[in-house]
Amino acid sequence: MSEQIPFVDVSEIERARTAIADTIRVTPVNASPYLSNLLDRPVHLKLEHTQISGSFKIRGATNAIAGLTDDQKRAGVVGVSTGNHGRGLAYAAKAAGIPCIVCMSKLAPQAKIDGIEAEGAEVRIVGRSQDEAQEEVVRLVADEGMTMIPPFDHRAVIAGQGTVGLELLDQVPDVATVLVPLSGGGLISGVAAAVKARRPQTTIIGITMERGAAMHACLHAGRPVLIDELATLADSLGGGIGLDNQLTFPMTRALVDDTLLVTEVGISAAIRHLYWRERQIVEGSGSVGIAALLAGRIASAGPVVAILSGGNIDMGQHHRIVSGEDVDVTREVA
Ligand SMILES: *Cc1c(COP(=O)(O)O)cnc(C)c1O
Repeated sequence: MSEQIPFVDVSEIERARTAIADTIRVTPVNASPYLSNLLDRPVHLKLEHTQISGSFKIRGATNAIAGLTDDQKRAGVVGVSTGNHGRGLAYAAKAAGIPCIVCMSKLAPQAKIDGIEAEGAEVRIVGRSQDEAQEEVVRLVADEGMTMIPPFDHRAVIAGQGTVGLELLDQVPDVATVLVPLSGGGLISGVAAAVKARRPQTTIIGITMERGAAMHACLHAGRPVLIDELATLADSLGGGIGLDNQLTFPMTRALVDDTLLVTEVGISAAIRHLYWRERQIVEGSGSVGIAALLAGRIASAGPVVAILSGGNIDMGQHHRIVSGEDVDVTREVA
């Protein structure tokens, strides 16, 4: 067994907060009178879907870029995400004035390509799979000296995401429970490192979808394992954690109190609730904490903060969901 790399700690997250302060937005926290009444405890929503680029991913990307040398900055950064990491990285690179290439396969939807190009990055379409796109990344790193910024398993990325935790401690100092949408574990590792250091009695719960819950399966297996990626309304939570995971698996295992899975129907109900009761447009992945609350799954007492992690949802799909249509993405992919 290789030796465990030290966990990201709160001093790295404090430094990240300073490093990214000029680029990111401190997102507000709203009390939810409706949910507080329903659950008979204070419920707060951390409105991270109002972050620049539509999700928290810009925090980690900005911090990772801040840590590059001048030579590395000149050569630029590269990533493979079609989703929120790609957008966050593109925006962070633009803000730092450095080149950014996002590699995608031919299967990437035009709307995602447009979104990333609109943030100022070059999109390079290579091959027919994520693996072939990844080969182009490897080539750009080797031949052009570009730096690859991974979406979660990277110290500076985790420290950047952890700034969400420092902010919410300032905003809700008596927080008892934090609900964190969970995929590769960059957000929850950073938030848990920050919150447990400052307020150790706080419970941190990772929420993810039943369909393709990678980190949950890995925690149960006791090691990183492969899982099948399935269609889900929580599309930003899909994908594995990496079989050679260095940091987010051990940090999640050590620092997170529990993980919970929510259903597709529960995610729809949460998107609807957030729209009609809270006046917020939140993507499926950002709504999973609300799905758990509405389903009565969060038993502990005291103030709870649900992180609404992103808002990049197709507005046609959002419209159908909040209009009460039964939008089942699991049927659309045979
Ligand atoms: C990436 C993402 C997540 C999950 O973050 P991890 O660090 O991979 O666990 C949650 N919500 C949204 C909106 C995201 O884009």
